[in-house]
Amino acid sequence: LPLPKDLYRPLRSNSDGVEFGDQKALSALLVEIDASRGAKFFAQPASASMTQKRAIHSPFDGTRVGDVIEADAASLDVAMAAAHRAFSAWGAQPAETRAQILERAAALIESRRGRLIALLQSEGGKTLDDALAEVREAADYCRYYANVARELMRERALPGPTGEENRLRHVGRGVFVCISPWNFPLAIFVGQIAAALVAGNAVAAKPAEQTPLIGFEAVALLREAGVPADALQFLPGDGAVGASLVAHELTAGVVFTGSVAVAQEINRALAKKPGPIVPLIAETGGINAMIVDSTALFEHVADDVCASAFRSAGQRCSALRLLYLQEEIFDACLATIVGAAKELRLGDPGDPATHIGPVIDRGAKAALDDYLARRRAEGSVVYTGAAPGQGCFVAPHVVRLSSGRELNQEIFGPVLHVAPWRAGDFDSLVAEIMAANYGLTIGLHSRIEARAKRLAALAPAGNIYINRTMIGAVVGSQPFGGFNLSGTGPKAGGADYLRRFVREITVTTNT
Ligand code: GLU
Repeated sequence: LPLPKDLYRPLRSNSDGVEFGDQKALSALLVEIDASRGAKFFAQPASASMTQKRAIHSPFDGTRVGDVIEADAASLDVAMAAAHRAFSAWGAQPAETRAQILERAAALIESRRGRLIALLQSEGGKTLDDALAEVREAADYCRYYANVARELMRERALPGPTGEENRLRHVGRGVFVCISPWNFPLAIFVGQIAAALVAGNAVAAKPAEQTPLIGFEAVALLREAGVPADALQFLPGDGAVGASLVAHELTAGVVFTGSVAVAQEINRALAKKPGPIVPLIAETGGINAMIVDSTALFEHVADDVCASAFRSAGQRCSALRLLYLQEEIFDACLATIVGAAKELRLGDPGDPATHIGPVIDRGAKAALDDYLARRRAEGSVVYTGAAPGQGCFVAPHVVRLSSGRELNQEIFGPVLHVAPWRAGDFDSLVAEIMAANYGLTIGLHSRIEARAKRLAALAPAGNIYINRTMIGAVVGSQPFGGFNLSGTGPKAGGADYLRRFVREITVTTNT
């Protein structure tokens, strides 16, 4: 393979926005963000019968970002009943009407990006480039699913030998429960909701416990764009709220992004539920690997590895966890990667020069610190970066393993595991990676075209990345999602995503 034209590609999106090379546009964006910094945010379900507020603190400096009133059993029932009532009218709208509302939401997301970025930074600890990419991704989902719905939900006559009139159409299922993660509290939150709504469902949206404020901003914005308030219910809370929503008799579908353990719990709960069989769309994580052979360009590898493993503090389900370096280049390539990692700056997510912000909360930091202490005790930590002493920071780490098989869990943070592999063993290496039974992302750095083709043919993961990073899938161009323990499919940002959100109705008339 020739070297790519552009080795260092910024994360991209379909939505217009600031490119970081453009100093004037960047300064204007920073002014917009500053105008919202320090604002206090608030979130609550429509019918909260409880008034107990919970404060949300920044993972960076502990300041109070705002307060949330969480859903209790009574408000949850009221919300589900209201959503169920709203479903008939909303689902009966032409798909075009719903699509236009989503397009208005996309425009609103873009026009409010300063406020949304400020909130993503303070509540979610997101760096400027991550927050901006997330705002764009949220707008992309709205526009993309609007267009998919226009096509999918067009009633059509089906030809055939029956001599009758056969017509196929797609309608919403009812109330869709959307349970989203804290690592993309805007993009995935909005993506799930946009898909469910435009397909004609009403929605009960549960944001992650750590990030309800950005969720509520998004809900307010979608309502402002024209989604009827009752058709989009906001139900913040902990896992118990999610479990009650899944078990609720009015739930007609569930879309979930988060951990494997919770996805399996939801799957079991749905299986036990009396009444209709309720579909689940789950997207979880993976022990995502990248394979580097001796033909790869080290500087290119180093950049892509640092971005894939450490950017967003490693808190993406797509992130690189396990790097396989071919034996012959192991030491030299690792030295280049560590050299590049040393340049990464951790700090205030509000500072545009920061590459890596904090992890999401104290619990996440404690679990990572604990894991790293164990690795340090066994002598396998070969690099520890520098992190601020305050806040929920975890420095980038490199852990050296003698075999990739030693890693059998997803470590959701800036921890890169590195293992050697022997040339001539490519297929068995891929088989070893697949034996972990995940299947989300995999990367390859190589100039050998036949090897890249072989990896694609073996199809070890839902998203296969050749000579680039393993993060930042672009809506519509790089549909995202995996299989096995990594999820059920269909892929987010793909043309088939909406199909799982609808019922298909065939009407046959003997004419
Ligand atoms: N779509 C994101 C990416 O490509 C990852 C989503 C997630 O972490 O859930 O990096």
